[in-house]
Amino acid sequence: MNVETLNHCQTMAASSSHTLAATLQRAGAKQCLTAPGGFLDIDGSRGEGGGQILRSSVALAAIFQQPIRIHSIRAGRSNPGLQRQHCVSVQACADICGANVSGLSMGSAELFFAPSRAAQSGSYRWAIDGAGSASLVLQTVLPALLSCSSPSTVEIHGGTHTDMAPSWPFLSEVFFPQLRAMGIGVDSTLLKPGFYPVGGGALRVVITPRSPSHASSVAAPPLALGVPTSPSARPYLLAARPSQYTDVVMTVETTEKTHHATAPEVDAARVAMQAVPAATVVPKVAYGARGAGMAVYLRADFHDASETDPPQRRVFFCGKPPSGAEHKTRASCCWEEFSVFLASGAAADEYLADQLMLPLLLTGEGGRYTAPSPVSLHSSTNIGTIDLFAKREDGSSLVTVVDSGATSTVTVTGLGLLAAL
Ligand code: AMP
Repeated sequence: MNVETLNHCQTMAASSSHTLAATLQRAGAKQCLTAPGGFLDIDGSRGEGGGQILRSSVALAAIFQQPIRIHSIRAGRSNPGLQRQHCVSVQACADICGANVSGLSMGSAELFFAPSRAAQSGSYRWAIDGAGSASLVLQTVLPALLSCSSPSTVEIHGGTHTDMAPSWPFLSEVFFPQLRAMGIGVDSTLLKPGFYPVGGGALRVVITPRSPSHASSVAAPPLALGVPTSPSARPYLLAARPSQYTDVVMTVETTEKTHHATAPEVDAARVAMQAVPAATVVPKVAYGARGAGMAVYLRADFHDASETDPPQRRVFFCGKPPSGAEHKTRASCCWEEFSVFLASGAAADEYLADQLMLPLLLTGEGGRYTAPSPVSLHSSTNIGTIDLFAKREDGSSLVTVVDSGATSTVTVTGLGLLAAL
C-alpha cells in the first residue's frame, strides 16, 4: 500500500476514533499506541503462530479501525503464509470495513490492512475454493458485524466438517448457544455439508447484535462480575458445570461416497464407548456432501438438576489422531480428549476458551469462564493479540487468567462495543 493511501485510511479512521476513545475510556480501557508509521506492527509467528493471530488481528483492526502490518504469517507451519481460508477471512473483513489491503495472495507472509470506515452490516457472501474452514471465516467477521447497529446475513462456502477448526456441530451446538447467552442473536443454517478434502459446503448465519432487553451501558471498571451493570444485563458466566454428563453420543459421519468404508470407524467407536453407560454410537450419512470424507465426533450433555430443556451445557470433540499417533482411531482420540476435559472440571473446553474472548470483549459486561489448565497456546496467543490493540487504563491486560490447578479462570473485561438494536 502506498503512503498516500495509508494516510487517507488513517484520516478516515481518525474521524470516528473520538467516539471509540470515549467508549473505551468509559470501560476503563485504552487503545494501544501504533508504531511511528501509523500502523500496528504484528509478528504473525508469535505464540501459537498460526492462522488465529492473523484472523484476530484483522477482526480487531476492523473494530478499532486500526491499520496493521502483519509479518511472518504462519511462519512455523508446514505450509507457511496465507492459505485460501486466510485470504477469504481477510477479504471478508476488508469488505465489511472498507479496508485497503496489500499482500493478499496465496503464500504471502506479509499483509497490510487499513480500514477506511466503521464496519457496515449487510448481506455478504464469501466462498473458499476447497475445504478451508467456513466457520473460521465466520468467526473472523463476527466481531465487526456485532459492532453494527443492524443485523447482517452471511453466507460462507467452504469446509464445514474439517479437522483443526470448529466443525458445524461444534459451531451450532456449542459456540452459538454461548453467543446467545451473551444476548447476541444467531440464526444459523447448514446449507450443505463440506468435508475435507473437497469442501463445497455452505452455511448461512443471520447475526443480530443485541436485543434491547440485553442492552447495557458500558461496565464501569473494574468489572464487578456477578453484579449486573444494568437491571437487564448480567456478565456472562460459564464457571461451573455438573460433574457428570447425562447423555453421550459418538457420531461417525461420512459423505455418501465414503459410506461403505465406515464399518471400521463405527466398530472403533463402539470399542471406545463400550464401558460408558448409556452411550450411543450413531453412523450418519451427510447427504449432499461432495467427494470422500469422514468426521467422528463426541457430544456430551450436562444437566443441572434445576435445568430441563435445552441442556445447560453441551460439549463436542472431534477425533483426529495427532501427528505421531496415526495408529490411533479417530474414535479413541475423541474419547481421550473428552476424558481430559471431564477430569479438569472446567466448564469451557479448550477450543471454546479461545473463541469466547473476542465476542465477550465487545459486550458491556464482559464475563468469566473456566477452562482446562494450563490454558491452550491458542488462548494465551489470543490474549497477546488483544493486548496489542487495547489494554486497561492501568496498562494491564483486558483478559486475565488465574490458574488454580486443574482449571483456569479466564476473565474478560467488556468494552461496550457491541451494538444494541
Ligand atoms: P489456527 O490453528 O491458528 O488456525 O486456529 C484454529 C482455531 O480453530 C482455534 O480457534 C481453535 O480453537 C479452533 N479449533 C481447532 N480444533 C477444533 C475443534 N476440534 N473443535 C472446535 N474448534 C477447534
